[in-house]
Amino acid sequence: MLERRSRHIEELADYEPAIAKQFVASAREFEYLCDESSDPLMEDEHELVRGLIHKYENRVLCLLTAECAAYCRFCTRRRMVSDIERGAVKEEDIGRWVDYLQEHPEVKEVILSGGDPFVVPSALFRFSVERISSVPSIKVLRIGTRVPVTAPELVNEEKLEVISSLRQPVYIGIHFEHPAELTEATIDAVVRLRRAGAILYSQTVFLSGINDDYETLHELFSRLTEIGVRPYYIYRCDPVAGAGHFRADFAKERRIMTALRKNLSGLACPTYVIDTPRGSGKIPVPLEFWDADCSVYRDFCGDIHSL
Ligand code: SF4
Repeated sequence: MLERRSRHIEELADYEPAIAKQFVASAREFEYLCDESSDPLMEDEHELVRGLIHKYENRVLCLLTAECAAYCRFCTRRRMVSDIERGAVKEEDIGRWVDYLQEHPEVKEVILSGGDPFVVPSALFRFSVERISSVPSIKVLRIGTRVPVTAPELVNEEKLEVISSLRQPVYIGIHFEHPAELTEATIDAVVRLRRAGAILYSQTVFLSGINDDYETLHELFSRLTEIGVRPYYIYRCDPVAGAGHFRADFAKERRIMTALRKNLSGLACPTYVIDTPRGSGKIPVPLEFWDADCSVYRDFCGDIHSL
């Protein structure tokens, strides 16, 4: 995966080690562990139309671009992000997505992702969002982004206007890892998205040496709740090839999440999950309130995995 940092991230990384560690490439990305894969969630296998992934019955993922404003070194899609050729989505591709959605009325929800859908030109953003939302069976639109953190200026008036104009609720999942990301410009982008009518939630990945401690996550989730972003999921870092050094200790993660569940309001505490390696879904991890054997778990397909 290429290295890319926006000006906003460059400035933050200069004085915040937690930011630099996320975005500056290291030689450790060449250390591969035996349980890792370039596509741990098996998305390629479910790509039924170019850029459209259909894994779960009632929702699909549409990858609008392979580009991001800055590349996170632990990205689950590091096999494809920054691959400009693969990620070059055109209006014809979006037309094929719409055909697929019309042929599959059981799909009620579209998740626009990438890459980062907010980095595409505003005209393509408008075209894709308006075409998808025009399909009568689509009841919910979700957009996954990290732009409020990496390049808040890309949350521009044209995109906000598109979001405001839709008939469906628009849920925007913003990827946050550390309280240092909550700069004035980021908070301003969050407020503008809220004012445009979007419902905001966060996604976080446990990252060794970056956020795998109680105080950091307590501050992150409290402050997100205060600015109107509902903490939604915190993931165990996927076994993606080249990101093994970011994976935190599992027992430590459970301990931290148990303490957070005791002390944060339910609203501020996200669900701690493992995205199952063969791509069958997100399995909640039992916290230490239960005497559970957490060395093995069963996924949505009934297959058993060990940690
Ligand atoms: S913004 Fe999202 S898609 Fe882009 S590199 Fe970071 S984690 Fe991957």
